[in-house]
Amino acid sequence: MSVDVQTALRSPRSYDLAKTALEVMEANQVWPTVRNFELWVHYVAEKESPLAQEIDRLLAAGEPFTETVGAELAAMFLPEAKLNGDILEAGDVLSKELQSVTAAIETAQKSSEEYGQELAIASGRLQDGDDAGEVKAVVKDLAEATKKVQGETAVLETQLAETTAELGRLRESLDQVRRDAMTDGLTNLANRKAFDERLESTCGKADADGEGMTLAIIDIDHFKGFNDAWGHQIGDQVLRYVASVIGRMGATPRMAARYGGEEFAIIFPAENGRIAKAVLEEIREEVSSRSLKRRSTNEDLGAITVSAGYAERIAGESAMSLVERADAALYASKHAGRNRTTAAQPMAAVAAA
Ligand code: GH3
Ligand code: MG
Ligand code: MG
Repeated sequence: MSVDVQTALRSPRSYDLAKTALEVMEANQVWPTVRNFELWVHYVAEKESPLAQEIDRLLAAGEPFTETVGAELAAMFLPEAKLNGDILEAGDVLSKELQSVTAAIETAQKSSEEYGQELAIASGRLQDGDDAGEVKAVVKDLAEATKKVQGETAVLETQLAETTAELGRLRESLDQVRRDAMTDGLTNLANRKAFDERLESTCGKADADGEGMTLAIIDIDHFKGFNDAWGHQIGDQVLRYVASVIGRMGATPRMAARYGGEEFAIIFPAENGRIAKAVLEEIREEVSSRSLKRRSTNEDLGAITVSAGYAERIAGESAMSLVERADAALYASKHAGRNRTTAAQPMAAVAAA
């Protein structure tokens, strides 16, 4: 039986798979690197696969699962590994650091054992001997042993510090990848994916806390005409300008996102329609009162306007229904002549219509 690991990791089994993979890795003393984790998730998910059989063979032969073995297995069995190069690289560096830290810990352990033996011998010598020369020799030996242990501790500390720094870099690189995946390149606002996720989680939190929330959708009016008149590049600048106003008014704990081409959304956690309406009116007035100028020539581009719709969430309402109602309110603004803000119909009215 073959299981697609990407699918498996998204299924309810994913947590179990990840957990089992880590347990098996620990039992076999495999370093928890990104690549090893992927290999071992495959291993536990697809026991009959060629990869799993190869790993079984290595384990049976008692071969240590080194970085080289992991790299070879990945090259052989995971040809289209979808991992980001930076992360893999950071993982590799990290695992090397971890290996040298372990080696340093082992050395330090060994020398502190030796130090203990040294101490025992010294105390024996002190009990037996009674002349000053012997005491002097014992003290000298002990001083040397102490210096050796101190030296090894220093090495260990340096290596631990390096590993900590490497872990920090790995986390930063992961954070950056995550941020890029969630950000709209043109406007720097949250993208649609980030918006969808946040809307779901905010709905869940609203129900858990017994609180309300509001969703707004904002769309630039006659933007196609603007692009046709002034060109796409100036259109992009205007998009960025409108996004900056929306981003400022939708700052944390709200969330402003680019919902689509010239459409934006703001999530208002724990805020009602009255507050959302005031914010939307402020955005609308600020955008429409600004006379736009072409940067290069100072040519007057006129003004643009936005239309908005907002819906206050009803307890238990799905994210989809909330978006539908806010969207319907936006279209009511458009039909009523644009450059305005409209509240959504309550759910009962939507159901009746
Ligand atoms: P309405 O008032 O009904 O919203 O009219 P509209 O012209 O704004 O709406 P329509 O949906 O017909 O057109 C949207 C336009 O938005 C079309 C497209 O040229 C423009 N647009 C979408 N994304 C971008 C973008 O990333 N950059 C630029 N410059 N324009 C974009
Ligand atoms: Mg539009
Ligand atoms: Mg639109």
